[in-house]
Amino acid sequence: MSNAITINPANGETVAEYERIAISKAKEKIAMAREAYASWKETSFAERSQLMHALADLFDANKEEYARLATTEMGKTIVQARKEIEKCAWVCRFYADNAESFLGKEVVDTDAARSYVTFQPMGVILAVMPWNFPFYQVIRFAAPALMAGNTGVLKHASNVQGSAFALEVAFIKAGFPAGVFTNLNINAGNVKDVIEDKNIVAVTLTGSDPAGRSVASVAGANLKKTVLELGGSDAYVVLDDADLEEATDLATFGRLQNNGQTCIAAKRFVVLDAIYDKFLELFTKKMREAKMGDPMDESTYYGPMARLDLRDEIHEQVTKTIAQGGRLILGGKIPEGTGAYYPATILVDVHPGMEAFDNELFGPVASVIRAKDENEAIALANNSQFGLGSGVITSDRERGEKVALQLEAGSCFVNKLVTSDPRLPFGGIKNSGYGRELSAYGIREFVNIKSIWVD
Ligand code: NAP
Repeated sequence: MSNAITINPANGETVAEYERIAISKAKEKIAMAREAYASWKETSFAERSQLMHALADLFDANKEEYARLATTEMGKTIVQARKEIEKCAWVCRFYADNAESFLGKEVVDTDAARSYVTFQPMGVILAVMPWNFPFYQVIRFAAPALMAGNTGVLKHASNVQGSAFALEVAFIKAGFPAGVFTNLNINAGNVKDVIEDKNIVAVTLTGSDPAGRSVASVAGANLKKTVLELGGSDAYVVLDDADLEEATDLATFGRLQNNGQTCIAAKRFVVLDAIYDKFLELFTKKMREAKMGDPMDESTYYGPMARLDLRDEIHEQVTKTIAQGGRLILGGKIPEGTGAYYPATILVDVHPGMEAFDNELFGPVASVIRAKDENEAIALANNSQFGLGSGVITSDRERGEKVALQLEAGSCFVNKLVTSDPRLPFGGIKNSGYGRELSAYGIREFVNIKSIWVD
């Protein structure tokens, strides 16, 4: 069994090696999580809330350390890594303060003397998580799941095991009892055995759609519930009344944040014909000027991709799109030197049937697509296997809202980059997955919605 090795994508140096545990050991840890559940589910919301607040305080206190770890393991800029840790604290506090009201008893008027709905915990939840937000993705699952009274076991991405263990330690330091949150350093091949373990009651996966299909099929065969947060290739529709400076600022940051590796990132820009040429000119200028470099440097706009294989994969997708008739306007060449760097890249003449239109490009590559009018823009935006987070850029809010309501996605933001905000549900439709995280909807995914009737 090969160990999990973390490599700094900025320089190719090995950071650490983490010994994988065998499936027998993983099953022991899952049994401990089941044992911990027996007493954890009996704790009050007030007790859980106190611990969740302590965890939030730990994120604040250790922000720099955690941020540097994330940057070292997967290459995001240090500035954005700090923001990720701040968001972890926010989500912990949000559920610490709101879980009880989200899961409060709902009285229903029936023929019974008393009837109501309760939201009870389910047991041990398995979370399979990606590397792109190594702290936040885990907290987005764990804060609501634990506040609901479940316990959690984590199978984190192999390249961010340092973050996975740092999280496990943080839960313990915050005072959570042993077994309430556990990192299983197993390889992806052992996930099937874990799902089949009788102590696992449900699974959540954030990652690519092949991983989602694989996990969902095993969980389905075992009749275990899943929530899937998968990829996206959503469109940002730029209407002809958009302020071009603002639109291109948003487009540049949207495509390059997290080094282009965000599920809800702007990937396809569908721009109305009347402003297409000006948009492309200004966007190209800003993408060219964005500084690629050492992610630890405070002035870096975007760093390397998370792994060399991912960098090579996106280059292949760019090459394939060009072979299919797409035109390269900027970037598109692997730079010399060490590190998994890939430059800001723009493709045009991208149509349905081409790689960059049909599939997710998880890196700093934008497709700029011309639409003759608003209706065609909406049709092009919706012509996608994905439906995670779309955007509309316009100076007319009402018009933007009308377009937003017609876009097929789990979220649609007008004049703002799609973001996950704990107050709003987050998730996708189509091949972007199903189920929701965050808000009251998210915490109700992993509970038994139970009816009580007293005659
Ligand atoms: P990935 O390759 O699917 O990996 C995600 C996790 O699944 C990792 O822990 C990975 O383990 C594991 N895994 C991979 N194949 C598996 C399999 N067949 N069975 C069980 N587990 C498996 O995705 P990634 O490259 O890390 O992340 C990028 C993808 O995640 C993109 O598509 C992105 O859009 C999506 N994403 C979605 C959201 C959302 O909220 N919707 C958020 C972030 C990212 P190993 O690391 O050991 O392979």
